[in-house]
Amino acid sequence: MKQLKTLGFTASLFLILTAQSWGASPFQVLPWNGSKAAISLTFDDGDPIHLDLAIPELDKRGLKGTFFLIAGKLDRQADWQKAAKEGHEIGNHSWDHKHLSEYGAGDFQKEVAASRQTLEKMTGKPVLAYAYPFFEKNAELETVVDQNAFIARGGYGNFIMKPDNDVDWDFIPCRTAMTSVDLETYQQWVDLALAQGGWSVFLIHGIEGTPWGFSPIPKKTYTGILDHLVLKKKEIWVASFGEIGAYWKAQKILEVVKPKQIGAAINWVWQKPAIFPTGVILKMRIDGAGIQASQGKQLLTPTTEGLYSISFDAGNLSVQNAPWKVSDLTSDLPPSPP
Ligand SMILES: [Zn+2]
Repeated sequence: MKQLKTLGFTASLFLILTAQSWGASPFQVLPWNGSKAAISLTFDDGDPIHLDLAIPELDKRGLKGTFFLIAGKLDRQADWQKAAKEGHEIGNHSWDHKHLSEYGAGDFQKEVAASRQTLEKMTGKPVLAYAYPFFEKNAELETVVDQNAFIARGGYGNFIMKPDNDVDWDFIPCRTAMTSVDLETYQQWVDLALAQGGWSVFLIHGIEGTPWGFSPIPKKTYTGILDHLVLKKKEIWVASFGEIGAYWKAQKILEVVKPKQIGAAINWVWQKPAIFPTGVILKMRIDGAGIQASQGKQLLTPTTEGLYSISFDAGNLSVQNAPWKVSDLTSDLPPSPP
């Protein structure tokens, strides 16, 4: 037993030393688009106050939100079209927002697929994020959601998702704003996400003045949350649910790709999921003076900090003249058993 421990220790030490010769890994996708944390604001049920107040206040501050609409209850379509055109995300929040127990067999096609089509027709854009009414799901619903969305918002769970956490793309948790919660608490939610380097998703229904929105929050509280986010914008990536979700999901896909050494080139190849947004750009650090990174025939130019913008759509990345080889990268391999 003692002998085994010693061998294990030696193996670990060897790995540490090998890793140290390159410092950290010579390449890394930066979490949260290079920010320390991320926040998404989501708004449910297509409340008119979202058009009249939530969006104008976001626009004033250059922020984007995600609006989960009920496709069978679409009022003011021209206004929603305009919001989508301006860069706010329209998400799918079912056809008629019923409890799970009220649906019969086969209803989920209409609830998820037909509602997606209707919303896409209205916005002229892909609608690839889903939010479960009442946070309720079963296996049948989840299967249809999987076919129509690359990410879905649930309710409860781990409210601060860190880059390395395992994630259930079919049930991303969110924190729900309620009338009884004061501004300081929301500010703490933001600050906690920042302190822990994670992504938090907020869910807002009603805001003061709403005709029918659930648990409306005072207007001052709402604008206070936005102002707090603006204050922290150098450290926090504030973007739509789908944008941050797509970045993180693409990062997770790329992180498990094992690069291959082919002559002097190091190549990554990955598969983009069938249901996924286009245009996702990952920020990647690739170390080594004089390296040449390319995607297909496209040569990539690094920023002054040595960061590269990687197109996830391209599905490949090649690095030439690296001062390290794939065979050097032992640090991420689990130690072999003694
Ligand atoms: Zn709802």
